[in-house]
Order: sequence, then structure tokens, then C-alpha cells
Amino acid sequence: MAYIITEPCIGTKDTACVDVCPVDCIHPRKDEPAFESANQLFIHPDECIDCGACVPACPVEAIFALDETPEKWKSFIEINAQHFGK
Ligand code: SF4
Repeated sequence: MAYIITEPCIGTKDTACVDVCPVDCIHPRKDEPAFESANQLFIHPDECIDCGACVPACPVEAIFALDETPEKWKSFIEINAQHFGK
């Protein structure tokens, strides 16, 4: 399983989640070239250890556990995976 970043992140890209993630699986980071062009942040589906630390860190409540992703944002499960070529 993995956590999923959804629609509220688009245009927000706060990166508080990046700072709290213990396994550095949220990308792009601010110091990565892709950061400027990315319209949201993404969680690597295989590297996420499901710790949940990113959820309260997000100021726009964009992050959900996979099985708690709201129906209207289920497409983001695939969108996060696709970012990493999954
Ligand atoms: Fe990182 Fe934990 Fe969030 Fe997964 S649940 S993206 S490991 S902070």
C-alpha cells in the first residue's frame, strides 16, 4: 500500500510533507529540477512505508491512505504511480 497525494496539492506544492517523510519518497523536492514544472507532488508507491506522517503535515489535506482516498480523487492513485513510471 502507499499514501496518495490528491487534487488539493495541485498548485499548492507546500512540501511540508517532504520534510517529514522518513524515507524521502515524496517528489519532486524543491531542490530537484522537476519541481518548477510539476503541478503537484507525488508519493512513490513502492517506497512509501505507510507511516502516515505526511497526512497532518499537509496544510490542504491532500494526502490519504490508499484505501481511504475519496472516490472523486481515485484517479490520483494512478497519477502518483505514473509519475514514477509505474
Ligand atoms: Fe512518507 Fe510516511 Fe507519507 Fe509514506 S506515509 S509518503 S513514508 S511520510
